[in-house]
Amino acid sequence: MESQIRKQVLVTGGAGFVGSHLCERLLTDGHDVLCVDNFFTGTKDNILHLLDNPHFEIMRHDVTFPLYVEVDEIYNLACPASPIHYQHDPVQTTKTSVHGAINMLGLAKRLNAKIFQASTSEVYGDPKIHPQTEDYWGHVNPIGFRSCYDEGKRCAETLFFDYRRQHNLRIKVARIFNTYGPKMHPNDGRVVSNFIMQALQGLPITIYGDGSQSRSFCYVDDLIEVFVRLMASPDDFTGPVNTGNPGEFTIKELAEKIIDLTGSSSKLDYQRLPSDDPIQRQPDISLAREKLGWEPTIQLEEGLKKTIPYFDALLKA
Ligand code: NAD
Ligand code: UDP
Ligand code: UDP
Repeated sequence: MESQIRKQVLVTGGAGFVGSHLCERLLTDGHDVLCVDNFFTGTKDNILHLLDNPHFEIMRHDVTFPLYVEVDEIYNLACPASPIHYQHDPVQTTKTSVHGAINMLGLAKRLNAKIFQASTSEVYGDPKIHPQTEDYWGHVNPIGFRSCYDEGKRCAETLFFDYRRQHNLRIKVARIFNTYGPKMHPNDGRVVSNFIMQALQGLPITIYGDGSQSRSFCYVDDLIEVFVRLMASPDDFTGPVNTGNPGEFTIKELAEKIIDLTGSSSKLDYQRLPSDDPIQRQPDISLAREKLGWEPTIQLEEGLKKTIPYFDALLKA
């Protein structure tokens, strides 16, 4: 079992929502974890409980600058993921994806380390095929408000594959679909966190557009499991591989489910749909099933029940 060998693992963006869960999992699996983060959207609170662990180390650092450390594996997650945050400083968002990828790939090349990239379903843009398979090239606006994120992530994928072709690097690329769970930032504007926070406070639930647009929501523990499996997979399996839960819901259905589960009296409040907001999104996860023997085990209702108490506790703190 690979997980029984102690490795030095770098997690960039390790203080973020997904990154903090990954750090926790890697420590549980018996590895030494170096968490690198500039705390733009991540917070020390997410990793506070790990700070006493002698196998855990944290470094404040921006991945757009070179990084010289010694590790065996790299998970590159650094990048703001919510539209509000990635559009706050779009130039920095592209730099984080592109310069960040170059630096982490340069590091991996010097160390001959295996490197994982947290890519995104946004590389498919507003998709014209449904559900999305990995061979779909996408339908992306190169000059819109979401482009800094979408095109930055697409360029990062290009860099990963060119480092593989040119330098024979061992790469792993996961295209992550909407993921939710405890430790999401309560104010980062993503739909699950917004709706739960609003429902718990009896505030109007802000539905953008008519709520008929759909998303597929993956619970964070399922996502971490596929990350670890992908990293441990044979070197000739590089991805890109879709990672997400194929269960698809409209945004209105999500709102109703959250109102129901929180017993809230909140009303639906329809607002303007942001530009370039994809109409539908559902991963085809056949490749992950076949190559990694993985599929999500936690469906939406169960995952929401695990997530709501986290936000409830934040509100009561
Ligand atoms: P997040 O915003 O909670 O975490 C991102 C982390 O990266 C934060 O801790 C932030 O401070 C850090 N960061 C940002 N810029 C940095 C920089 N220049 N240098 C160092 N650290 C930096 O987001 P998340 O949901 O945890 O997403 C993690 C990764 O997964 C991101 O790369 C994101 O694009 C990808 N992803 C997430 C989702 C999702 O639904 N959560 C979907 C698709 C892709
Ligand atoms: N780099 C880094 N850490 C390392 C090695 C490289 O941050 O341990 C950075 C380095 O600053 C460089 C980038 O990664 O800009 C790409 O490195 P590569 O070796 O591919 O390219 P080169 O150094 O030839 O530009
Ligand atoms: N959304 C919404 N109300 C909110 C936040 C988001 O209706 O308060 C919608 C948003 O327009 C999008 C979907 O929910 O259609 C998912 O948004 P999110 O920002 O979570 O992720 P992404 O658009 O990147 O999939």
